[in-house]
Amino acid sequence: MAKSRVSIPSGFFAPGERSGQDALEGLAEYLLANPVATVLLENFSGLALILDPEGRVLAAQGDLQDQVGLDAPAALQGLSGGETLRWDPRLETNAGGMAKAWRSRGGEPCRGECLVRCTPVRLAGHDLRVITLQDLRDREHQEALEHLFIHDLLNQVEGLEGFAGSLLEASDPAAIAGHLKEFCRQLQEEIQSQRILQCAEAGQLAPEVRTTTPDEVLERVRQVFAHHPVAEGRQLKLLPGPAGSLRTDPALLTRVLVNLVKNAFEATPKGGAVKVWTEWREGRWGFMVENPGVIPAAVAPSIFQRTYSTKAERGRGLGTYGARLLGEVFLGGKVGFSSRGNATRFFLWIPDAGPAPLAAPEGEAGVAGQGAPAAEDAPVQRNPEALYTVLVIDDSRTVRRLLGRILAQRHSVLLAENGLDGLALALEQAPDLILLDVMMPGLDGFAVCARLKADSRTRDIPVLFLTALCGQAEEMRALEAGAIDFIPKPISPAVLAARVRNHLELKHSQDRLRNLSLMDGLTGICNRRRFDQYLELEWQRCSRTGHPLSLVMGDVDYFKAYNDAYGHGQGDSCLRQVAEVFSLALRRPADLAARYGGEEFMCILPETDREGARNVAEQIMAQMEALALPHGFSSVVDRVTVSVGVATAPQPSPGQSWKTLVEEVDRLLYLAKSKGRNRIEGI
Ligand code: GH3
Ligand code: MG
Ligand code: MG
Repeated sequence: MAKSRVSIPSGFFAPGERSGQDALEGLAEYLLANPVATVLLENFSGLALILDPEGRVLAAQGDLQDQVGLDAPAALQGLSGGETLRWDPRLETNAGGMAKAWRSRGGEPCRGECLVRCTPVRLAGHDLRVITLQDLRDREHQEALEHLFIHDLLNQVEGLEGFAGSLLEASDPAAIAGHLKEFCRQLQEEIQSQRILQCAEAGQLAPEVRTTTPDEVLERVRQVFAHHPVAEGRQLKLLPGPAGSLRTDPALLTRVLVNLVKNAFEATPKGGAVKVWTEWREGRWGFMVENPGVIPAAVAPSIFQRTYSTKAERGRGLGTYGARLLGEVFLGGKVGFSSRGNATRFFLWIPDAGPAPLAAPEGEAGVAGQGAPAAEDAPVQRNPEALYTVLVIDDSRTVRRLLGRILAQRHSVLLAENGLDGLALALEQAPDLILLDVMMPGLDGFAVCARLKADSRTRDIPVLFLTALCGQAEEMRALEAGAIDFIPKPISPAVLAARVRNHLELKHSQDRLRNLSLMDGLTGICNRRRFDQYLELEWQRCSRTGHPLSLVMGDVDYFKAYNDAYGHGQGDSCLRQVAEVFSLALRRPADLAARYGGEEFMCILPETDREGARNVAEQIMAQMEALALPHGFSSVVDRVTVSVGVATAPQPSPGQSWKTLVEEVDRLLYLAKSKGRNRIEGI
């Protein structure tokens, strides 16, 4: 972190407070000159402010303006500390706590978590307060926690391996398989909690609120612990509570309660019971989790800290931390505990009408997607100036919105909420790039990627995986499935935009190369290679959909004589014009014209019957007549003409080869030649 300066916001005090202002300005000057105060502020790694008795900023670290996105020190004028950092002003009077506040970094608002400490100081007869904010998402913290998380996962995988090994000698393999399945489910659950926590900390979580009942939520909790090892030899007692309903995100609520119940089980000796019940009071539902035993007074103040744990290993306090983060910031409730007598009770009180919208600073939509325009949910967002289309496949609405918002600035965006919809959009819209979530219900990212790569129509679309899990095995699996790169979650908008740009540029140059290799250099229409590829593809597609497929083949009459008489240069020019006639005769986007050989041209007409193919052939004949290129050495007429064959497969079958249709159209073309040229055969 750059060494911070200490500054006084100039012209800071409100008008009409002249007398007080002089005194306090003097006090600010005094603070700046005071080495103890400046050293304290400068050497604090978080944010630090000194507030006057009215709660206004008196002195602050110099980079505070950058941190909160204000342009100049003067912009702090008249702001209270709470307004400046957008925290709840009540925190200033507390001994400290977690700010479930907006804080900003580099001007970008985010809903994070920081530890606020408030220390009263008396200086020159004034009661001041020093407020410090420590970002709990610091890199070191992150790294330590990620390390622990991976360590935990490895432990579990080792357990899994042990189980799997014993399967070989087991007398009752079915029972062991059941255990294995449960083990895997818990592993998934663990990974999912970590992912949700990361998204929450990055402000990328939007509650999905619906009406539910406390019973429904408690039933989910019961299921989680039905076979959980932490509950072994212990009892979960769900006590009857009042009937009713509430609006909340049931999945997040369950997650909070699972965290609390898990902690309670861990504190309960074998043979003991954890009690869970609900209460209703003045529009709020209370969820209570109680276990025997008390939390020592010395430990109580740090129970919700991110890195605090009562367990043996350091840094294992995520249960309560996560419960508070999700319960308070995202569900709009209150999480706390009381520990007295011989029991400890954790509670979550949440409003039965649902969480209030999280307030975003004016003029800025929250990253969490609150208040975002409905258009952000639209599955197709066309940007008329965009060169490229990017498809996002992710089951999280928040991630889709976030990515949509970032990408729509430069590209057209398609959004799909599951693998099947994503595959359908990829086929329909042929996007230039696909961002694919790894973990999704139903078809997961690996399966979707494998299907994209198995289909020749989507094979060449680069796929970037969106993943919170960047283990080597996972990366290998994704690369083997055909992914080109990873975007780590939580998503950094700058990294995302840069990677997407790089891959699109790469795709663009690859497309150009590929197109060059599939184009005919003389006429600019497709070449024989492309013809073969495309016909095979469309043959398969029509055989799946049961549609007919037609071919129109033309050959210039007496072209050798033309070449001999007018020279190769004019011969080439003639071929270019004939190619244009074939291209312009096409009506549908799926039709394709190709130069099949020297002076032979082909049209592939998918989903076109004999009637439609005849129209195309007749259009070619009419345009050749209109072109009226003189040919004084033709034995038919004194202009360039073509002979045409038309062949239709009414119902292509997958067993039959497309080559038979080519043979058929070739045969008909030469029938036209033998019947006198400048005519159509096969209609
Ligand atoms: P038919 O009416 O029976 O089709 O007679 P034809 O003379 O058109 O057929 P033939 O296959 O005998 O001759 C085709 C000629 O096309 C021979 C070749 O010189 C010419 N040709 C093939 N490719 C090119 C090309 O790229 N440029 C030019 N200028 N001529 C070409
Ligand atoms: Mg010819
Ligand atoms: Mg020929």
